[in-house]
Amino acid sequence: MTQILPVLPAVNEHYVDRGLYPHGVAFMDGQYLPMSEAKISVLDWGFLHSDATYDTVHVWNGKFFRLDLHLDRFFRGVERLRMKLPYDREKIKSVLGNCVALSGHRSAYVEMICTRGSSPTFSRDPRHAENRFIAFAAPFGSVANKEQLERGLHVAISETVRIPPNSVDPAIKNYHWLDLVKGLFDAYEKGAETALILDTNGHIAEGPGFNVFVVKDGSLRTPAFGVLPGITRRTVFDLCAEIGLPATAADISRIEIKGADEVFITSTAGGIMPVTRIDDTAIANGRVGSVTRRLMNIYWQKHDDPAWSTAIIYP
Ligand code: PLP
Repeated sequence: MTQILPVLPAVNEHYVDRGLYPHGVAFMDGQYLPMSEAKISVLDWGFLHSDATYDTVHVWNGKFFRLDLHLDRFFRGVERLRMKLPYDREKIKSVLGNCVALSGHRSAYVEMICTRGSSPTFSRDPRHAENRFIAFAAPFGSVANKEQLERGLHVAISETVRIPPNSVDPAIKNYHWLDLVKGLFDAYEKGAETALILDTNGHIAEGPGFNVFVVKDGSLRTPAFGVLPGITRRTVFDLCAEIGLPATAADISRIEIKGADEVFITSTAGGIMPVTRIDDTAIANGRVGSVTRRLMNIYWQKHDDPAWSTAIIYP
């Protein structure tokens, strides 16, 4: 089977190195703008208090992947935070498509955001704030670069505990990332490339922008508790159902993850990405496993399936 890997432009690194904004188009306050001009007020509660929810969908070869699932999650989050979007679902869909079309990107990372906004009277009461909708399309980004996709990521387990789900509901996709960022610094100190952090019971939770799966004796498992129900995670369950692989959501201990036959992470930012080292332990002799490779192939093939994708109309 030929392996279809995304040609991952190290776009993020390219732009970060040069201190430039990535080329992209944003939508704010009813207008389409170049990315470099999309700015929010320092008084927005989204900035001051992380009082915001968002979702990220990607575009591959000119098509959104599983857009409706991302919109469902976004709308659920907005409702649970008692915010109100100024637009309906159809309008938001068309704004997202327009951001991509105007940017010209055939592969993009597309974010939709709702912030609490601020109140015209600077009231401290969140009910008085005018909620703000923002969207943007930037170049496709990935957790793992091309080399890491081929040889597998090196991950460190940090002692940092993910914010408890009864404090911040992880099903509402959010910017509460201090724990994840601390995990990343811990990982860099250990010479790893990214991190996994723990849930409140000391089991493996998730990482900065991704869920995690283990494969053991042909079955897949991903943490159930205290994690964002990722759309890529859900896609792995759907793919497993199609090809007849057992997959469940249940606790994973540190010992179990290090003793797994295969480990991979999942994110809209990069899809299904192999892990071949955790702390000092090589997973499955340090090689990308066959179940991971098979799922990566089907995952990318599905990007052309009309049932799972939505074509963008470019000018
Ligand atoms: N977990 C966290 C904390 C995330 O921020 C993300 C994505 O940004 C994920 C998991 C993966 O979710 P998805 O597959 O929907 O991109």
